[in-house]
Amino acid sequence: VIPDTKTVVRCDCGYQVTANDEAALVDAIRRHARDVHGTVCSYEEALTVILRADLDAVRPGAPPSA
Ligand SMILES: [Zn+2]
Repeated sequence: VIPDTKTVVRCDCGYQVTANDEAALVDAIRRHARDVHGTVCSYEEALTVILRADLDAVRPGAPPSA
């Protein structure tokens, strides 16, 4: 379930994608992983990335572990 607010997903490489639709986000993440990083990202993995992005959005100020 996605709230009305847009979710912004950022990749370690600096790639950033924003979408209102969960399916569109999943598709963009999987396509990015394949085209740019040459890795296979499953639907579940993409969903996890989106969930993490949502958590980060409500906890600003937390520095990335990198
Ligand atoms: Zn990337």
